[in-house]
Amino acid sequence: MKKRIAIFGSTGSIGTQALDVIASNPDKFEVEILTAHSNDKLLVQQAKKFNPNAVVIVNESKYAAVKEALASTDVKVFAGENALEEVAVFDTYDMMVAAIVGFAGLKSTLKAIESGKAIALANKETLVVAGDIVMQRAVEKRVPVIPVDSEHSAIFQCLIGETRNKIEKVVLTASGGPFLGKKPNFLVNVKKEHALQHPNWNMGAKISVDSATLMNKGLEMIEARWLFNLHPEQIQVIVHPQSIIHSMVQFEDGSIKAQMGLPDMKLPIQYALAFPVRIPNAFPRYDFSRSSSLHFEQPDIKTFRNLALAGEALHKGGNMPCVLNAANEIAVYGFLRNRIGFLDMMEMVERAMEKIPYIEKPSLEEYFESDAEARNFAASLIHI
Ligand code: NDP
Ligand code: MG
Repeated sequence: MKKRIAIFGSTGSIGTQALDVIASNPDKFEVEILTAHSNDKLLVQQAKKFNPNAVVIVNESKYAAVKEALASTDVKVFAGENALEEVAVFDTYDMMVAAIVGFAGLKSTLKAIESGKAIALANKETLVVAGDIVMQRAVEKRVPVIPVDSEHSAIFQCLIGETRNKIEKVVLTASGGPFLGKKPNFLVNVKKEHALQHPNWNMGAKISVDSATLMNKGLEMIEARWLFNLHPEQIQVIVHPQSIIHSMVQFEDGSIKAQMGLPDMKLPIQYALAFPVRIPNAFPRYDFSRSSSLHFEQPDIKTFRNLALAGEALHKGGNMPCVLNAANEIAVYGFLRNRIGFLDMMEMVERAMEKIPYIEKPSLEEYFESDAEARNFAASLIHI
């Protein structure tokens, strides 16, 4: 039986790579649902190639174009934000690839979990915002949440066969991004064109900026906390510019397991889709005989304050990670539109965390409220 896959965010960096993996394994997977926000042309192309049951175009002004382009097929076309939740509960698929970017991915992922679907999770913001609720629902529904994020996939792989053994700590590796070693006097002048040039990974705009500010690693600390049920003290970040070791787990006897390979998101995507089976592929291999040294250093959290702020949010818990995430989404939006500078992004996140009232154990509704408050506050700082 083929595994039936729904790709939420199919037109993005993760979504298109997930489709590449599926196209290479037509005997194992079939596409059931595809969703995009505004990229109607690519969505239509994908629908014609993979012939899903349904597609969603969130931007309603593109509905007519998608409907017309798919008129000769039997693909069902839905539009609007609510349609994401409507199709997430369809009982015609087995696994959701959660690859929408940002808070916008939370509701549909929760719906998929509530309707018993396995989740291949790329959308880390879902766990940053409401990780306690999301993971609790997954446990209640006995739904596996399999990480796609390369660091978390590495940890997940290191934990296979270790169910009885306690984790002492996990070590998340960070490439350091395009501005590794740079100081504020340099960063004050950088523009989005520089921030979008990641040395090792080719990713969507938001996560590329997050990698440049180290917010991405901060979000990943919070993601790891929920995925692996860790205490904040058990999570360490180390800069490893080559991105060959994708992350590590240290056990109670001091033994450290690492997962390694060339930086290529197709590998963790394929692993999540096929879990627990590994599928042969032709991806390029890491070659030790050609490699130079692997290097490690401490992150510069004074310059890249976002990592320190995320650490603070992780320790405080409650709605603080949600506030951090919301302010950061607005900050990145502002930076990508040349409205604010690189360092202003960190300033905005810090101010939002000071401003928005702390809630120790928020309900889902309170998470939504904190998200909206933090967004409004951050937007008021840049007048958008
Ligand atoms: P992209 O920006 O490349 O793609 C985002 C996808 O989500 C697109 O399909 C986009 O549609 C859709 N989308 C955007 N906004 C909305 C919205 N408001 N509502 C519904 N759909 C929306 O992002 P990435 O693929 O880079 O990242 C996706 C997620 O995966 C992020 O959470 C990221 O942190 C995570 N991730 C990504 C990695 C990578 O290598 N790219 C690595 C690890 C994690 P459209 O194209 O129409 O705009
Ligand atoms: Mg990652």
